[in-house]
Amino acid sequence: MQVPLIDLKAQYVQIKPEIDIAIQQVLSNGHFIGGENVDDFEEEFTNRNNVKHCISVGNGTDALYIALKALGIKEGDEVITTASSWISTASTILQTEATPVFVDIEQDYYTIDPSLIENKITKRTKAIIPVHLYGQMTDMVAIRSICDRHNLKCIEDSAQAYFAILDDVRPGQLGDMATYSFYPTKNLGAYGDAGCIVTNDDDLAQKCSELTNYGHIKLNNKITLGGNSRLDTLQAAILNVKLKYVDTWIEQRIKHVKTYNRLLKNVNQIITPKVRQGSRHTYYTYVVRCQNRDRLKKYLLDKGITTAVHYPMILPLLHAFSFLNHQPEDFPIALQCQQEVLSLPIYAELTNIQIEYVVNCIRDFYN
Ligand SMILES: *Cc1c(COP(=O)(O)O)cnc(C)c1O
Repeated sequence: MQVPLIDLKAQYVQIKPEIDIAIQQVLSNGHFIGGENVDDFEEEFTNRNNVKHCISVGNGTDALYIALKALGIKEGDEVITTASSWISTASTILQTEATPVFVDIEQDYYTIDPSLIENKITKRTKAIIPVHLYGQMTDMVAIRSICDRHNLKCIEDSAQAYFAILDDVRPGQLGDMATYSFYPTKNLGAYGDAGCIVTNDDDLAQKCSELTNYGHIKLNNKITLGGNSRLDTLQAAILNVKLKYVDTWIEQRIKHVKTYNRLLKNVNQIITPKVRQGSRHTYYTYVVRCQNRDRLKKYLLDKGITTAVHYPMILPLLHAFSFLNHQPEDFPIALQCQQEVLSLPIYAELTNIQIEYVVNCIRDFYN
């Protein structure tokens, strides 16, 4: 049996007629930048996230960079973020020429540990970027109160957590901005690159839309320098179709996770994900911690099961950040997770038979 990590074709097959029509309509209209599809997407995404503005952009990395620029982050500033994430979270801080300041993660939820943040705040600190890792939200109430006490801004990297909720709070409601990626493998994936920023702040929304669209020359000759990072109209049309189904797909993921968790309960070498009280975890990835991770990964691959490691190297130890001179022992929890985490196959179309096969193979490995 083959069990891929994710199966994008299986999803396309289900919605093929609608997707094909949506693409055809864009081609027939000849309207390839902006237009109704992009407007509709921004409006719908705003409504669904219960925020005021959505600024669509070219990808999730640009979304982070533009959000940082909109806050005026620049050389000499420090931005606090988590030790465990995809590289874009921290590389975009470097792109603004500010310095990333890394904080270890919470043992149970893998998101930035709020209790360690205040020790890292200096006169130069301007912002915090928490990441809602794997599909579960960071404790945003704690982050917001730190930001308020120290007059800091907050950008929530929500690339992995559309429609996640924690105690009725969604990404973008307690942070100044939240950024998203619609990279194809994300829970709401385009058929190419795409991303967006959401915010309740009118000024930040205005700045972001200028920065995505060549910048803006003001009357007093002051200019906002901007690049070009827009959501492609074709991708918007595709996302508009997928928005109708994404909630069902997330519910199916949650159902599969329950099955996995139940079957893995008695496998002592595996730790299944913990969910915060009052949290809707949307499972962009289903990450377990396991003994003998690398050998297990290889064993599963030989059995036709693809898994992944999110992420093989914690951010502070990546070469790009070697100038910060971090040692592995500076981030003990993140380092331990780096050695133990394994992402098992998860997607809406996964079957119970496949899940049982994966778990049986894991059991066989440990026996
Ligand atoms: C995917 C991802 C990004 C980057 O998104 P792209 O659209 O690939 O640029 C940023 N942060 C996190 C946490 C991600 O998972």
